[in-house]
Amino acid sequence: MSYDLNLPLLPLPTRADATDTTAPRLLIIYTGGTVGMAVNRSGGLVPMKFGRLDRKMHELTRLPFRLELLSLPAPIDSSNVTPQDWLYLAQLIGRHYTEFDGFVVLHGTDTMAYSAAALSYILEHLGKPVVFTGAQVPVGANRSDAQRNLITALEIAAARHPRGHTVRVPEVCVFFNDILIRGTRAKKVESQQFAAFKSENYPPLARAGIGLEFDDKSIRLLPATRLKVHENMETGVAVLPLFPGITEAVVSAVLGVPGLRGCVLETYGSGNAPTAEWFLNCLAEARQRGVWLLNVSQCEEGRVVQGKYETSARFAEMGIVGGEDITTEAAVTKLMFVLGLGLSEARTRELLATDLRGEITL
Ligand code: ASP
Repeated sequence: MSYDLNLPLLPLPTRADATDTTAPRLLIIYTGGTVGMAVNRSGGLVPMKFGRLDRKMHELTRLPFRLELLSLPAPIDSSNVTPQDWLYLAQLIGRHYTEFDGFVVLHGTDTMAYSAAALSYILEHLGKPVVFTGAQVPVGANRSDAQRNLITALEIAAARHPRGHTVRVPEVCVFFNDILIRGTRAKKVESQQFAAFKSENYPPLARAGIGLEFDDKSIRLLPATRLKVHENMETGVAVLPLFPGITEAVVSAVLGVPGLRGCVLETYGSGNAPTAEWFLNCLAEARQRGVWLLNVSQCEEGRVVQGKYETSARFAEMGIVGGEDITTEAAVTKLMFVLGLGLSEARTRELLATDLRGEITL
């Protein structure tokens, strides 16, 4: 990806007059993903450049919003996304923040949950909607879900409280199929059906049926302050999923990666792991080298309770941080974000254990 912050914005024709300043002004940022893919010569799906999106999606012309499109010059399959791309995407949003009322990011579904979680951390004090969406079937194909997902995502980005003008969802979130999910709670759970995402350990922020029903009590409304776009993500991060039979060679190889600063330890049930001496020694030794360990459960629901069983009794004294009910996606990106801040040991520990963007329920 090239990191040009001065990419052109293409106005899309809609029902709203471009001079009507009462019509919500929304920016669509197209990054790639199946939503904009076509089959290449060797038969694989690759992202296309999006020119006039309205020509592929006539429904857009009926919307009462002022719409503009920013297409990345080299759209990607989201399997190729990097922390550098997240920082760039956040900077693009920061660059256009005051001009627009809301943002919709068209993104591949494979890593959308990681990107939405990453942007949740990077965009601190966000006061406007940033809605990620995409499609399981490309926009040009019959039975594509792109129209439905994008139109509703735009409606969410434009939504105001019924009485008053305040923004309805001032969060980074994922809209897909029929649910709106907080960015730090999203998980891709399906690769063949339209309902590709799940909201883990937290209620959906809205449901789209015949109407759009917002669950206002689940949406974070923070006092309006100036947006802060952070500029660093630590990339010396790994994930270590446990499985019965895991060997010392595997654990020590992962925890011994040169430059490793943090690791998500994917444990069993409520945060449990083997009590074998070699295993605990590997963890203790990594901790002594200053590697942060975040204990995240492999279970999709429930939470980590360190010390509940003997199999996690020594974790707290070793300084392993309990991830509560966080997802792996939100944990990996939280480690990258918090370690990227370059804070003291005590402050790093405090932030890792704190609910920063609605990623954990304490
Ligand atoms: N491989 C695609 C991507 O993540 C899948 C999708 O968009 O649904 O870019």
